[in-house]
Amino acid sequence: MRVVLMGPPGAGKGTQAVVVAERLGIPHISTGDIFRANVSQGTPLGVEAKRFMDAGEYVPDDVTNAMVRDRLTHDDCAPGFLLDGYPRTLEQVGELDSMLTASGSTIDRAVELTVDIDEVVVRLVKRAQEQGRADDTEDVIRRRLEVYAEQTAPLTAVYAERGLLVQVDGMGAVDDVTARLLAALGA
Ligand code: AMP
Repeated sequence: MRVVLMGPPGAGKGTQAVVVAERLGIPHISTGDIFRANVSQGTPLGVEAKRFMDAGEYVPDDVTNAMVRDRLTHDDCAPGFLLDGYPRTLEQVGELDSMLTASGSTIDRAVELTVDIDEVVVRLVKRAQEQGRADDTEDVIRRRLEVYAEQTAPLTAVYAERGLLVQVDGMGAVDDVTARLLAALGA
């Protein structure tokens, strides 16, 4: 199963993606996690990505697309994958389509976690305090939500048009949200 997980920053995508991917027996691919790993290892990719991440902006499409293109060629992706935080722009949607076309496959489901925006800000501020994430100061949080609304929210329409979109209520207890997600994915 090839799944795209969408939703604003703070919707709980990362937490849910880990559990859902495990239950489906597919790798969890988080572009944010890959960028953060590169930042902490000080790789050239990390150095390039960091200045965008710290400002709450998206890393340029060509950089992000090349990274995902490489990741999807790994053997563990043969049975499918759960993409967390990708695609985030229309260009990335097109690029993902071409990666999949090349291997004769398609996305099976796009899941959007829906949340109350005020609740999201509370969650992000709390996470920033707990994890000391440099990309989670209050100004940056606001900017990340703006960028999501401008560039990524419109992507749900693309997947809806293809009949692939399911919206899942992301509010409430973590286990309840997981159960809703698994049900939406028919698992
Ligand atoms: P995340 O943990 O998914 O919220 O990602 C953290 C940061 O990594 C984002 O705020 C972006 O700066 C960058 N990032 C992650 N995924 C993407 C993507 N698909 N396109 C561009 N930038 C991304």
